[in-house]
Amino acid sequence: MTFDILQGVLRMSGLSRKTILGLCAAVALLCAIAARPQSSTSAQSGGQRAGLKVVILDPAHGGADPGARGTGGVRESDIVLDLASQVTRGLMAQGFQVLQTRTGNENPSFDDRSALANAQTGAIFLSLHVSSTGLAGTVRVYTVPDMALPPANGGLIPWEQAQAAYLPLSRKLGNAVQGELAQKFKGSPTEVQTAYVRQLKTTAAPAIAVELSSVSIQEKADLDKMLPGVAEAIVRGVVAFRPSYVTPISPAVASQSPAAGPKP
Ligand SMILES: [Zn+2]
Repeated sequence: MTFDILQGVLRMSGLSRKTILGLCAAVALLCAIAARPQSSTSAQSGGQRAGLKVVILDPAHGGADPGARGTGGVRESDIVLDLASQVTRGLMAQGFQVLQTRTGNENPSFDDRSALANAQTGAIFLSLHVSSTGLAGTVRVYTVPDMALPPANGGLIPWEQAQAAYLPLSRKLGNAVQGELAQKFKGSPTEVQTAYVRQLKTTAAPAIAVELSSVSIQEKADLDKMLPGVAEAIVRGVVAFRPSYVTPISPAVASQSPAAGPKP
């Protein structure tokens, strides 16, 4: 079922736009989850190789929300958009399909950004940020802290707990990217850290946030100079992670008709 059809049906039923969007988001997540593997544990018990094909890049903030701002006028929302285009070019050269949550100065909602990732199969999600603190010239990678796995109650996973099943893979991806960044940007951590990043919580895919320091740099040019190196490290990390993206197809999902998949 497509979003359009669902929205049309629900519109005729007189439900509000907010309710319709909420239902569409829930359907997108459930379809994505129904068609995808949930745990790395079962991946080790003979699952099929689903393959990592799509990278969702999320230049954070945008529109009326500039994100962190430096005294010199540096805006986080601008820097991460530049970084996203550089990462996109690098990933496409490696054969990945890349989708950006924004390509201009818009500010999609957190749920819209997650929904883009949750509607894909074989995807990972990278949210890009610039902090207002931290040692200038360093880069950190985050996953969300441990989340409780939702109870197995027929495969329905609450939107707010979408990330839980993907955390082991998110950490693996985070360490791959952080390791590359640490080699290029001295003073950066060597391992992924945890932080409450709202955007990652509702994402049903391996998901990390990458954060550069910082907007408080005096010359914007110094921050701009970091971007090619950051982009290259991210691409190398994603390429290194690619073989780890081995996920099971459960018999229940494998026997589903194609019409039951996320992309009819
Ligand atoms: Zn940010």
